Parts: sequence; C-alpha cells; structure tokens
Amino acid sequence: MNESELLSSLEAVKDPAFGRTLKELQMLVGATESEGRWTLKIQLPTYAYLSKDELTSAIQSTIAEKYPEVGEINFEYSVKVLGKNAGGSIGLKVKNVIAVGSGKGGVGKSTVAATLAYGLKSFGATVGLMDADVYGPSIPHLVGAKGEPEVVEKENPDGQKVQRLQPIMADGMPMMSIGFMIPEDQAVIWRGPMLHKLLTQFMQQTDWGDLDYLIIDMPPGTGDVAITLSQMVSLAGAVVVCTPQKVALLDAVKAIGMYQQVKIPVLGIVENMSGEMFGQGGAAGKAKELSLPCLGEIPSDPVIREYGDEGQISKLFSEENSARESLEKMCAEITRQIVLNSLDAPKMPSLEIL
Ligand code: ADP
Repeated sequence: MNESELLSSLEAVKDPAFGRTLKELQMLVGATESEGRWTLKIQLPTYAYLSKDELTSAIQSTIAEKYPEVGEINFEYSVKVLGKNAGGSIGLKVKNVIAVGSGKGGVGKSTVAATLAYGLKSFGATVGLMDADVYGPSIPHLVGAKGEPEVVEKENPDGQKVQRLQPIMADGMPMMSIGFMIPEDQAVIWRGPMLHKLLTQFMQQTDWGDLDYLIIDMPPGTGDVAITLSQMVSLAGAVVVCTPQKVALLDAVKAIGMYQQVKIPVLGIVENMSGEMFGQGGAAGKAKELSLPCLGEIPSDPVIREYGDEGQISKLFSEENSARESLEKMCAEITRQIVLNSLDAPKMPSLEIL
C-alpha cells in the first residue's frame, strides 16, 4: 500500500463536524511513512474545529478495516481557512467578512461580535473587528481599547501616494470604530453620504492586513449600512442575534428579511441571554421555522456582562469560565456554516477570466 492508496481509501470518510466527505472538504493533503509508521496530514477548513477526536477515530477505524496491517497512525493537523476572498476588488485581503446584526438594540449584538472575533482568534485565526454600529459604537468599551487611529501616507504599487488609516490594536487584534474618533458622550447624526464615506474609509483605507475573518458589528435594524457594505464586498454572511422572547424574535425576523433583501446571505440566528429569565430555545424554534441554522445559544451569564463592562471581553477565552464553552461552540458553528456555503455555492468563473 502506498500514499495515494492510503489517501484514496479515506476520501469517502465523512467528517463528523461537517457531514461531508474528506475529499469534498479537501482535507487529505498527504501521508508519509517512517520506520513502519504512517503519518497522515489533515488540513482543516477552519481553526474553530471541535471534533478532532471523532475525526481521528473515524479515520483510524476506516484504516483498521481496509489495511489492518497499518495499525495506529500519527495525525498532523494544519488549517487552511476556506473563504470567499471577499474584498479582492477593493484591495481588502480578507477571506471572510461576517456581519453581526440584530433587529433592535440591547440584545447583545456587540457582545456577540466581540466574542466571535476573540473566540476565532483564540483558536488561532487572524481576525479584525470593525464597529459599524455608528449610532452606538460600543466595541471600544467592550474591549477596553482607546486611541485615535493614525493616518499614514503610503505608496501604492503603482507609485501613487495614498492616505491609510492605522487600526487600533487591542490584545493583538486590529479594530476600527467611530468610537475612537468622537467623544463617548457625543451623539452623531449621520447623513447617507457621510455614512457611506466613513464605511468606505473603514473598509478600504484601513490597513487591516491579511485576515481570515473581519467581523463587523452592524447597527441594529436599519438597512443603509448593510446596503453600503453589500455593494463594497461580498460578505460570507450575516449572523442575526436575538433574545428568546417573542417580541425580540419578531425583530430578528425583520432583520433577516433586510439582509436577504440586500443579498447578504444569512448564516443563521444566535440566541443570546438564553436561560431562566427570558426562556430558552425560542430562537432555535424560529430558526427552524425559517429554515435557517441556529448558530448557538449563549446563556445569560454575569461573567459576560462583567468582562464586557470592564473592557476585558477577551478574558472569556483566556480563562476558564461558565460561558466559554457555549461561545466556542458558536464560533465553530458560524465558521462551519461558512464552509458549507462555500462548498455549496455555484462555481463562478473568477473575475479575471471574464
Ligand atoms: P447590543 O449591541 O445588542 O446593543 P450589547 O452587546 O451592548 O448589546 O449588550 C447589552 C448589555 O447586555 C451589555 O451590558 C452586555 O454586557 C450584556 N450582555 C450581552 N450578552 C449577555 C449575556 N449573554 N449574558 C449577560 N449579559 C450579557
């Protein structure tokens, strides 16, 4: 038995997290043998992969069946984030842009956006966080970041001089927010063209670097920011956050309709603050009704509020706490949906060819 025989014997194995074959997911990248022991190289499509143990045993038992003489093998995991390479046309080097929205304020949308960003980072992904909630920017407060983004003059590859905004770095993550530019207590009225200009600056003129994910905290409800974004980049999708109460669910349904109208795919619903006070499972039921995935149920948990209020939301992933597991599952589920969408998307010829 040689490398290609070993690899092809595993092509039809279904990945336990994705329910798709290892071939479809392009996960089998090589195998080597040394002193009678095989090492299998597996490439995962997301950093937020929680089923390594199940995958290992699925592969091991397939091998035991087909090539019993091989025995135990070693596993070598790497990650290649699958994505849309969304911002190519505007020079943004981001594989996946994810919008986090809600029907109304106060449901924990910013908290979900920030924990999604820090969660993915804690798994090993390169992540940026953009606060597009221009009416109530709360990202700087949640992550405890301050400062004014610097403007630096840089030269384009064609020699042209351009002004570039430097994102504020917080715990090693680049971020942008209107909250860095205006005093906290100042209300801002946005007219359409100004809003458009600001978002263009945030997306296009900011030195985000190479990112696996750019998470965008959207303003609740309204559609103008969503329209501007959808015109600029091809988003991996929107995550809609809601609480389990009936009223909140109705607002979420409106938000979902809004995203669908501006052709941003909806990845699913996150039920936040689920638990005794508000009930549980309302969002999961609603998601099912709408044929959308439920992306997670985050309990109402004082540790989330405390770390957010202290500007230390990143601690949710660096310390053991009661909310961590549900947040990590949410990160895994969101990236899982993105991978599945990318597999199922009709294969379009790239723009260069057209
Ligand atoms: P939104 O962005 O929807 O307006 P925020 O993310 O600012 O909402 O959250 C509103 C308040 O609720 C904040 O004080 C936040 O710390 C708190 N909060 C959010 N999610 C949870 C949760 N799962 N458990 C406890 N408190 C939460």
